[in-house]
Amino acid sequence: MGSRGPAVVPHPGIGTCASRISLEHKSFGAELHRHASNLAGLPVKPLAPHSVAALRKMKKRKVAELETDALVPTKTPPPPARATPSLPTLLLYDERLQRHAHPDGRRHAECPERLTHIHAALESSGLLSRCKAVSCGEATDAELRGVHSPFYLQRLAALNNASRERLQAEAEQYDSIFMNEHSVDCAMLAAGGVLSMARKIYHGEARNGMALVRPAGHHADAHSPSGFCLLNSLAVSAKQLLSEGCERVMIVDWDVHHGDGTQKIFIDDPRVLFVSLHRQDHQTFPFDNETAEPYVVGKGAGAGFTVNIAWPEPQMGDAEYLYAFQRVVLPLTRCWKPQMILVSAGFDAAQGDPIGDCCVSPAGFAQMTRSLMPYADGKLLLALEGGYSLQQVGDCVAACVRELLGDAPPEDSATNDAISCCESARVAVNETLRAHAPYWPVLHPES
Ligand SMILES: [Zn+2]
Repeated sequence: MGSRGPAVVPHPGIGTCASRISLEHKSFGAELHRHASNLAGLPVKPLAPHSVAALRKMKKRKVAELETDALVPTKTPPPPARATPSLPTLLLYDERLQRHAHPDGRRHAECPERLTHIHAALESSGLLSRCKAVSCGEATDAELRGVHSPFYLQRLAALNNASRERLQAEAEQYDSIFMNEHSVDCAMLAAGGVLSMARKIYHGEARNGMALVRPAGHHADAHSPSGFCLLNSLAVSAKQLLSEGCERVMIVDWDVHHGDGTQKIFIDDPRVLFVSLHRQDHQTFPFDNETAEPYVVGKGAGAGFTVNIAWPEPQMGDAEYLYAFQRVVLPLTRCWKPQMILVSAGFDAAQGDPIGDCCVSPAGFAQMTRSLMPYADGKLLLALEGGYSLQQVGDCVAACVRELLGDAPPEDSATNDAISCCESARVAVNETLRAHAPYWPVLHPES
């Protein structure tokens, strides 16, 4: 590893990375060393090497009782947020996006009521009126073509207001896709809405924002829909920002499912740092998806810019996600200095979600949001992906919006809870650290 770092890519932010390491390493690295020492002698299975198969078999094991004061939270304070407080926090809520629904009329997990429940939660908590409301506008064909192929866009356009039989026949050709006569139009609106927000935030017209959009986007790639996703709104936004002068866009995907579409779009692009935290086991969509493994790090000039943190089992919660943030996401963010941070904000890792089978609390999502706000001059945009518990998705979005507005966290919120991270998650994070250590000197796997 040495000082090589991601020097394969001559980025402005990269050049300062190595010089920052000495400072960060002294504090962050010292904590890791101390942690390793504390663990020494404890009956904890050695962390390395582990095959993925071994990871999946590993029994989840809490070690909070084995550790008292040492773990990971970096003692390096984050830089102060530099966002201008007077700029608004944007909130996209557009009733037109409720038209997208399962054509059978049956209750589907990805239902229009998700948006109304979120809206109600924001209204009852008094957060809605404190945000600047924005609505959708359709993305242009040229903007969409930054990511999606002309053939795919033509195919989608032909489905707008198509017959039910035609839509069903089309949907059956893909994995986990449903469409009604409004679906394509809603996807266009969602992509345009997210892009408009990203532009406003990047160009300094707004502080940050939350986009309540559906259909979701992160499973859609250049040529096809997948997993309830038709157009990849955040990828379209990232590509457009890059064309408008932005040099480094970070996409953090905390949806419980791997952001396989986004990863595929940027797999060889060193201008986009893609970090996905997801379940990677046989029960989780996309099934048997080898591209979600930690050893998949990007290709060509993009090597090192795809980062997969793959949970080998369900029931990951605040401690596990915060541990991954402290060990991987935040060191990368500090080092690479993105100019804009986009979040594929799925809330299907929330406790009680009928699909995700994980247990992240609203406070956990809030803390992840808060931890990203000091970077990229506060230019942070969250766009809804999954999240299928109507109660939980409302509470989780409200917790994140409260952070975006700059409120102090509630007294009972999770803070530095990473010390109770389970062993299998530690091993998974270490797999990611080991895969990326050759590219990022700031990442330190345990031996
Ligand atoms: Zn999901």
